[in-house]
Amino acid sequence: MTRTVSIFGATGSIGQNTLDLIRRDRGAYRVVALTGGRNVAQLARDAREFNAEIAVTAHEDGLSALRDALSGTGIAAAAGAGALLEAADRPADWIMSAIVGAAGLAPGFRALHHGTTLALANKESLVTAGPLLMAKAKEQGARILPVDSEHSAVFQALVGEDMAAVERIIITASGGALRDWPLERLRYATLQDASAHPNWEMGQRITIDSASMFNKALELIETHEYFGVVPEKIDTVIHPQSIIHALVGFHDGALMAHLGAPDMRHAIGYALHWPDRAALPVDRIDLARIATLDFQAPDTARFPALRLAREVMAAGGHAGAVFNAAKEVALDHFIAGSIGFMDMAPLVEATLDVMSREFRLEGAIETLDTVLQTDHLARIRAAEQASQLQEKRA
Ligand code: NDP
Repeated sequence: MTRTVSIFGATGSIGQNTLDLIRRDRGAYRVVALTGGRNVAQLARDAREFNAEIAVTAHEDGLSALRDALSGTGIAAAAGAGALLEAADRPADWIMSAIVGAAGLAPGFRALHHGTTLALANKESLVTAGPLLMAKAKEQGARILPVDSEHSAVFQALVGEDMAAVERIIITASGGALRDWPLERLRYATLQDASAHPNWEMGQRITIDSASMFNKALELIETHEYFGVVPEKIDTVIHPQSIIHALVGFHDGALMAHLGAPDMRHAIGYALHWPDRAALPVDRIDLARIATLDFQAPDTARFPALRLAREVMAAGGHAGAVFNAAKEVALDHFIAGSIGFMDMAPLVEATLDVMSREFRLEGAIETLDTVLQTDHLARIRAAEQASQLQEKRA
């Protein structure tokens, strides 16, 4: 039977890996919607190749180029935030949420309305609005499947297990490009230094987030929100080889580890074929060749994002939305060269402080709109913090 699929963020790293898997079994799928951002040429190429019903670019100014590139194909073209939501309204059996950043939240949330299976790569959705998303999925009979490799690993280690027997969850971290840099040197890390991941090929933003460990910080919160496990039971360990993605410890002392090559097609493929386990075109692990697997505790002095994640989990409510928005602003400024690598965490911390003085962040999240408002305001406050940092540097 043909399955209908939509891919949000199709032009990105996760999106392209998803299309790679679908391409290999072309007859099994019918593509409903593909969405992208600035890369209109790629979006149009993919929409033509997969004969999508509709292609959507997030940016209104990309619409005429998209229309031109799709003319004569019968594929609908649309642009803007509203068009992304309309694409999410189109029923599909399986929807990939792989837009980067908080921009991925609203389309993913909307897709849950028609009880679909949502493969969630966009970790920011759970960080900013975890309780809301999980409740909506339950209410609509929709299913959210994790695509982040660590969370897919935990999900797989939990098959057939009783959550009451889970003592701890450990997600591994490669440590990113700057893992072994001393603190004094980290202050001078450049965009180029932070953009070279040792093991994974990913989009630029998540690669830099890996170097700062903000990615792992988001993933700690994501683990807490998705699996409903208290923060004290969740830990991270540096594992430079990126072979073990996560471990689940049970109350009989057993520790179940998930091993796999660092290739996102594994986690994407698991979510695509779940509950089955289909053959996938990923490298097989040769343990004798790897020989050694190393582990070390993360250093929170060099990587304060991990400490901030704990504070965010303790606060709950809207703290995640503030944390994520401030992190995105800090990252924009680091990429633009206006703040340093080690300025990002203080900027996020200062934004959390300011926002928690202005609002009660701890209260329960009630609607998507309040999350989006918090996100908006946190970006303004984070930009103010960035200006102050720049003034200090000048
Ligand atoms: P990329 O930067 O490679 O791709 C992001 C996608 O989102 C692109 O299609 C991009 O379009 C689109 N996009 C960017 N900005 C907007 C916007 N404002 N509105 C709508 N669409 C937008 O990111 P990744 O594929 O690396 O990551 C995607 C998500 O998956 C992130 O949340 C990331 O944390 C998560 N993830 C990624 C992993 C990886 O290995 N890459 C691993 C685990 C999770 P365009 O390129 O056309 O501008």
